[in-house]
Amino acid sequence: MLEEKLSPATLRLVETAKQIAAEVVAPNAQGWDRENRFPHELFSALHRAKLDAMCVPSALGGLGIGPDTDDPLPVWLVTRALASADSASCHGQQVHTNMTHTVALLGTPEQKERFLRPVVDAGAIFGGWGSEQNGQPPAGPRPASTVAHRVGGGWELTGRKFYSTNAGAAKFAIVFAFPDNVANPTSQLLLCMVDCESPGVSVQPRWWDQATGMRATVSHEVDFDRVFVADDAVIGPPGSYWSSQVQARYLPQFSSNFQGVGAHLFEYAVNYLRERRRTSDPFIQHHMAEAKVMLVTAELLLAETAELYRARRYPQAFDYSRMLRAYSQTAVQRVVELVQACCGSSIYMEPGPVSRMMRDWQFYCHHENLDLILTATGKTIFGLGGEGSPEAFGFGRSGDRPADSVHGAAGREK
Ligand SMILES: Cc1cc2nc3c(=O)[nH]c(=O)nc-3n(C[C@H](O)[C@H](O)[C@H](O)COP(=O)(O)OP(=O)(O)OC[C@H]3O[C@@H](n4cnc5c(N)ncnc54)[C@H](O)[C@@H]3O)c2cc1C
Repeated sequence: MLEEKLSPATLRLVETAKQIAAEVVAPNAQGWDRENRFPHELFSALHRAKLDAMCVPSALGGLGIGPDTDDPLPVWLVTRALASADSASCHGQQVHTNMTHTVALLGTPEQKERFLRPVVDAGAIFGGWGSEQNGQPPAGPRPASTVAHRVGGGWELTGRKFYSTNAGAAKFAIVFAFPDNVANPTSQLLLCMVDCESPGVSVQPRWWDQATGMRATVSHEVDFDRVFVADDAVIGPPGSYWSSQVQARYLPQFSSNFQGVGAHLFEYAVNYLRERRRTSDPFIQHHMAEAKVMLVTAELLLAETAELYRARRYPQAFDYSRMLRAYSQTAVQRVVELVQACCGSSIYMEPGPVSRMMRDWQFYCHHENLDLILTATGKTIFGLGGEGSPEAFGFGRSGDRPADSVHGAAGREK
């Protein structure tokens, strides 16, 4: 339905994404999950179609679309199309796309040339690594957060990131680091562009080997041992990730992925029920109709949010991004319940994808916290502010820390 809002050129992008979903993602998703393997086949297909350069400015050979352009919707529809075949591998694509957008939004012309041109020319892949665990890493004398220490000409990063999606495949990663020796490090958060082959960067796969969902994201632990980042590789002014509400632009991406999960499950259930000749049952009709209402309503909210971004009506666009993220999760959760009520237990039998999809969904819907996002929306209703805080994007404190800890909110990604 939303495709009707697209120009012929951008509609072709979404059609291409659907083709990649059917021909590359669907046949490989089970293998990527089983083997905990990076979806190279997906990224190669995206590169061939230029879908890895959606947010790269057209002056650099990219497609120049996405939030903060006249064409925000197709990026989200591409994400939804890919997630309709596999949420996990699609998340890797999302992180990559979001980080290229961050450079396009906040980077200098020289940084765009240096970091985004290789996406077009060589299929360079991005990560965006902010997540930390409880402030107390499992082993070794490490700082409570990834810190940036001032040295001549730049910064030295030391710390440990978890959930580092695309680690091992990424050429570049935007690493979220807190400068030491400042009064409020969270407000001074630095977006440090790290070449993943730099001395001191090491990917540790052990942690993600234990993952029980979203395995194809290969979200490994990555350690940083005095990694040098020159001043000209820091993206945007300190703290601009929060003050510019960059993460708000990525909530529609998560929402689109969620909606893809809902669409996938719904379509699978419709076929399953047809095959079992259960379509004349009024219980089934009623439940599947309710599922469809949830998905269509979520889709309409996505379109409205895109319209606000297209018109550059930013405070409202950010507010809608939160509502869209919240509603997409609630809607898909309800679709899961309704499909379960209609289809019972046999739908989980392999080789069908539903069991894996549910593992992924349980894991993924906690990427950011729904309650925190709704609380932020509530604050907006009452004019209480706080929209540029980590909590307003669903990121809470993790771990026990002293009350006056300045490292409370872990740096974030995506
Ligand atoms: C598949 C996947 C891929 C990811 N990829 C990336 C990535 O590429 N880069 C990156 O930086 N991060 C990534 N993340 C990490 C993500 O953003 C979160 O940091 C991570 O999921 C938090 O871990 P946790 O759920 O164990 O939460 P914890 O931080 O341990 O918190 C536990 C729970 O308490 C909740 N909580 C915490 N504080 C509050 C509060 N004040 N009020 C209410 N609730 C609160 C949390 O939301 C969570 O539900 C990824 C996560 C997943 C699942």
